[in-house]
Amino acid sequence: MLNIVIFGAPGSGKGTQSERIIQEFGLDHISTGDVLRAEIKGGTELGRIASKYIEKGQLVPDELIIDMLAKVLDSKENSKGVIFDGFPRTIPQAKALKKMLNERNTDVTVMLNLQVEDEELINRLLERGKVSGRSDDNLETIQSRLKVYHTQTAPLAEYYIQEGKHAAIKGVGTIEEIFASIKEAVNSVNA
Ligand code: ADP
Repeated sequence: MLNIVIFGAPGSGKGTQSERIIQEFGLDHISTGDVLRAEIKGGTELGRIASKYIEKGQLVPDELIIDMLAKVLDSKENSKGVIFDGFPRTIPQAKALKKMLNERNTDVTVMLNLQVEDEELINRLLERGKVSGRSDDNLETIQSRLKVYHTQTAPLAEYYIQEGKHAAIKGVGTIEEIFASIKEAVNSVNA
């Protein structure tokens, strides 16, 4: 299996690039943000709990996310590979992902770290907020999401460097230019 973790701050282009990667490599897409938004829309208990965190720009507790991810992963049996978008976001999530994949006789192939400066991220998210209708795309929540990213999520880069699976990708440029760097990184580990 080709399992890709697409990683980066909010607004770094994970969703956009995931769509290209799926087309190119025929992977399944798991976006924890999308799954959570569907739970909220469906009015489930998980959705009710998650929305409180999301609206404050905080992370949803690890146990809930890991549980949710395991269920989604089970629904993707016989997949050629999966792109994980928005997960893992903490070290315990990364460890849980490794365990879940190992139990299925596979592992993360590569982690693509999309790198974009904060100023650019804020501009992109404010622009997106005008059309996305997302309750978390407003300045106050964006600032707390970026803070959470730098303190809780960014340290994961080191975890994947240790695992020998980290690929740094410049996340600024045209969508095509960024995708070209991604393809190069994926092809070099998937040869
Ligand atoms: P973005 O990357 O732009 O912040 P997402 O759609 O990935 O957008 O996530 C939106 C929100 O959903 C996050 O701010 C967080 O509250 C919650 N969330 C998504 N994925 C996770 C995760 N793996 N762990 C904890 N919370 C998560």
